[in-house]
Amino acid sequence: MWAFYSALQSALDLLRKCPKCGHKQKVRLLDKNKTVACAKCSNPLPPNGHKL
Ligand SMILES: [Zn+2]
Repeated sequence: MWAFYSALQSALDLLRKCPKCGHKQKVRLLDKNKTVACAKCSNPLPPNGHKL
């Protein structure tokens, strides 16, 4: 089950929820460590936001 768990973890890493509008923004693997803009409201979504 560890492979499944780590796959789930990396999937979560590539999904960032916008705190402003609640949109779940998909993040490309290349942009994983970069701040991306929300597709709906352009709010900046910094990396590792879900850990705070
Ligand atoms: Zn947003």
